[in-house]
Amino acid sequence: LEELQQALKWARRCLADAQSQQDVELIVQLLADEDFRNAYGLYAAVSQQRTRVGPTSPLTVQAEDLCQEVQKILQSSQQETGLELRALLTDPHVQALLQAHDGVAVQEVAEENRTQYLGETVKLVRLEKARDNPLGATVRNDVDSVVVSRVVKGGAAESSGLLSEGDEILEINGVSIRGKHINEVHDLLQRMHGTLTFLLIPSTQIKPPPHRQTVMHIRAYFDYDPSDDPFLPCRELGLSFQRGDILHVISQDDPSWWQAYRDGDEDNQPLAGLIPGKSFQQQRETMKRSIMDRSRERQGGKLWYAKKTKKPKKKNPPNFGKNADDDDVLTYEEMALYHQPVSRKRPVALIGPTNGGHDELRRRLLSLEPEKFAVAVPHTTRNSRIHERNGREYHFTSRANFETDVASGKFIEFGDYEKNLYGTGADSVRHVVNSGRVCLLCLHTRSLQVLRSSNLKPFVIFIAPPAQERLRTLLASEGKTPKPDELKTVIEKAREMEQNFGHFFDATIANVDPDQAFHELRRLIDKLDTEPQWVPTSWLC
Ligand code: 5GP
Repeated sequence: LEELQQALKWARRCLADAQSQQDVELIVQLLADEDFRNAYGLYAAVSQQRTRVGPTSPLTVQAEDLCQEVQKILQSSQQETGLELRALLTDPHVQALLQAHDGVAVQEVAEENRTQYLGETVKLVRLEKARDNPLGATVRNDVDSVVVSRVVKGGAAESSGLLSEGDEILEINGVSIRGKHINEVHDLLQRMHGTLTFLLIPSTQIKPPPHRQTVMHIRAYFDYDPSDDPFLPCRELGLSFQRGDILHVISQDDPSWWQAYRDGDEDNQPLAGLIPGKSFQQQRETMKRSIMDRSRERQGGKLWYAKKTKKPKKKNPPNFGKNADDDDVLTYEEMALYHQPVSRKRPVALIGPTNGGHDELRRRLLSLEPEKFAVAVPHTTRNSRIHERNGREYHFTSRANFETDVASGKFIEFGDYEKNLYGTGADSVRHVVNSGRVCLLCLHTRSLQVLRSSNLKPFVIFIAPPAQERLRTLLASEGKTPKPDELKTVIEKAREMEQNFGHFFDATIANVDPDQAFHELRRLIDKLDTEPQWVPTSWLC
């Protein structure tokens, strides 16, 4: 660490731009952080222990005596012989010689084991492995043995039924495995294909009776790239996924590494993949954030994510139970299939920045098919106008009543305009749902959490604006003449919405061509009638 720190300080002097210098400074500070140093010390100690080649066995009685004698001499290091022996044993050439000796001895012991165990507890198994296909098993080091730590569903190892968790691998195709680091074993297995012959010491663990596999369906709320995860027990077995993907978890036997398939992949990809377990992912993300936070705060910089404040939420109704929205670190949410009843259509919430096109799409649906689509009648505290009827344009109400309803969480959203309050009540949406029509909502992203907790089971569609020039043309066709800055704001707002709330979107439509966007919207809404959709299980309880 000291060397790295020195090198970084030197490198910083050679860097010309301020951003790179700042980045290097951040790393230098991290390296100086006491917690980080402790964690690194632990890591170094553990990895040293794991890669250490254990003492060769068998130990003879003579060797034990000799060993004790050497230790005694070394302890009395004031004596000349002690010092001389210490100098001899720490000489790099002597150490290399001893290491070579140990390597040879390990080989010989493996040979001995073969005869010693054969006919007794050793078993020979043969598996077929296709080229470039993982075997579907992970291994761990137990001192100098290599032991099967997990058999993944759908792989060659599992379908053969011949490899089990806890089996010690002595040889693969005649190559001795004992004393090898797990990375070497993984590399070796990756290169091998065709018939693989394993010499194993079978596990003595009593296997639990096969229990019924329960599958849990989850939606991922973060992107995962196994090639970028140093903790993954076996790179080839990692399952990559993106935020919003539905995953089917078939095993949680190891709480840190679940086995899963990506929705739609089950038929073409027989081998399940490893994904980080929920609490493991939460723990490491929290740890990552606190390390980054402290470095940033010390630098007086801004946080790289929105930190939750303890301020009471003013506008949102009280909590409706635990779900993905409550978690500080978003990981997964349990999902189930839901098919909307013919008479109770799910409300469709169109989300997007002002002038991004979602309002236009809603207007078009309402005017073309008023018998199928409707809006919820809003509440307002302003006085009614001559042509307006209570319950048709608005529900007219007093400010006191409006505020009581806000406090008891009856509104999905509300706001003020020219000293009057306006808002959409959950009951008004429910009224449209009960009439058999699809309630169309245009909402701000901040209302999404409330809507999701309201038992209205909304289907959320994000309408993404096109690139700047195309957006200008579209708005011009509506008679609008936005300035370049205004166009940029629309696009920037959309990007922010996607980044902060994208995990709540059921679908996204790119509004490049309004006609195509309209047909896509219509297709998605029709699909709610014809196909079940994934919704949070908490909505169905
Ligand atoms: P008016 O009073 O002319 O009918 O509406 C004035 C403004 O009130 C509208 O342009 C809109 O900004 C706002 N408004 C109308 N209905 C709602 C609603 O349901 N929620 C919110 N937040 N604002 C509304």
